[in-house]
Amino acid sequence: MSRQANTDFAQAAVDGLEFASEAGRLSGQVAVATLSRIADNLASNRGSLECVVQGEMDQDGNSFLLLAVTGTLQLRCQRCLESMALALRIERRLLLVVPGGSWPDDELEDDTFDAIEASRTMALFSLIEEEVLLALPIAPRHEVCESPVVMLDKDRDRESSVFAVLAQFKKH
Ligand SMILES: [Zn+2]
Repeated sequence: MSRQANTDFAQAAVDGLEFASEAGRLSGQVAVATLSRIADNLASNRGSLECVVQGEMDQDGNSFLLLAVTGTLQLRCQRCLESMALALRIERRLLLVVPGGSWPDDELEDDTFDAIEASRTMALFSLIEEEVLLALPIAPRHEVCESPVVMLDKDRDRESSVFAVLAQFKKH
């Protein structure tokens, strides 16, 4: 597996075990607009994420895929519904389990990696999309929403015009 400068991850697939044993490395961008599984969470789907996929084999002969994803997503704040930047910095180790091979025990399993089944055609896009999905907060919110005043005004207008009438009253 050769080193490739700019991989089209939408198309890229690797033979997982071979990629690991050869310490392959692919890097490139994934357009945010193509991440359909997170589309509902986004306020904007512009931009792209920088991705690197690296193969690795440890001293015990275990094969890994290392995924690194960085970039910024524009999520929608659950409180004010305005857009909210999330800086992504994902670094993930995936242990490749040979088909029919033994999976690590839950109790023994190291928190620093997940195990996935190795195959000869592993679509890198789905692996990347899965990690991005896992990295999203369940209920994204600004620490301090920038436009709460606007929200209040809108709510007040909707609620009733009685207060507006009262305000007029007091002036006279
Ligand atoms: Zn907000």
